[in-house]
Amino acid sequence: MSDVREIKVGFIGIGNMGWPMAMNIHEVGYTLTVFDLDSARSESFAVETGARSAVSLAELGEMDFVIIMLPNGHVVREVLIETEDGAFIQHAQKGCIVIDMSSAEPTGTRSLAEELAIKEVACIDAPVSGGVARAKLGTLTIMIGAEDKQALEKAKPLLQIMGDQLFETGGIGAGHATKALNNLIAATSFVATSEAMLAAKRFGLDLDTFVDVVNVSSGQNFMTDKVMKDHVIGEKYATGFAMGLLVKDVGIANELCDAVNMHAPLSNLVLKRWQEALDVKGFSADNSEAIQIWDRNTQD
Ligand code: NAD
Repeated sequence: MSDVREIKVGFIGIGNMGWPMAMNIHEVGYTLTVFDLDSARSESFAVETGARSAVSLAELGEMDFVIIMLPNGHVVREVLIETEDGAFIQHAQKGCIVIDMSSAEPTGTRSLAEELAIKEVACIDAPVSGGVARAKLGTLTIMIGAEDKQALEKAKPLLQIMGDQLFETGGIGAGHATKALNNLIAATSFVATSEAMLAAKRFGLDLDTFVDVVNVSSGQNFMTDKVMKDHVIGEKYATGFAMGLLVKDVGIANELCDAVNMHAPLSNLVLKRWQEALDVKGFSADNSEAIQIWDRNTQD
């Protein structure tokens, strides 16, 4: 198939990330059908772009590709196997390729791929990093896990629209494992950077200057470079990444450490600190708001 207009792409989960990712696919010319639990969201996407908004998941079964950008792997499985009495899996056509770009649990992804394979539906995991800004630009980092190399080759032109750094990390689930461990590092550096900044503030240091120094010194990291100035010091708290989603990823990474019999005391503590912030702030709070909760803690 040379004309992309002949290729039918379904996109499930038109949220903060899914919206700009689907938009980029639409703009290249693929025939796009979107679906979201929040039908107002998928309908407004359809109105804005002229793409189709699916009424039932059965319609997604007729697609050549189904891209998924949902909160977690449990929701992904529910949507593909259980929702509307299994409408997607019942109607899925042989040769359909599911690309799960959500950040999900790697072991759940492996068993989902086995369930889909019974219907000759291929499954690739391809979670992303880069946030909403890079989703809009189509420059996400994509971490691919795939057993079926033919399906992966077919999926690559779509992945290359959404990202410009594609990594083949191993078999099915490998992308999801890579993503969870990356976010464990990011979440850990946010805790560490926050503690340093809170100590700096209490010592009377100017925080702008402090972050400037760190950004050209050995403490530099993604949080000092992209988050602390605008979202914490500037009090925007609008990175576009919900705290609940980040805590989910840290939980997945901790489970992975357990599964490989790995003693990981720091990762356990990082999960505890994020959980404390989540308990107060709630799932939808921006992840950068966590520092406000840790600021309340004193040594007693
Ligand atoms: P979001 O909450 O903005 O979007 C999720 C969308 O899924 C929503 O529109 C919601 O209505 C829809 N949805 C939920 N349950 C559904 C169901 N059962 N059926 C159909 N639709 C359903 O989340 P997001 O920030 O776009 O994140 C999506 C995924 O990408 C998550 O796995 C997240 O961890 C990951 N991620 C997010 C970022 C980020 O910066 N926001 C970056 C990288 C990866």
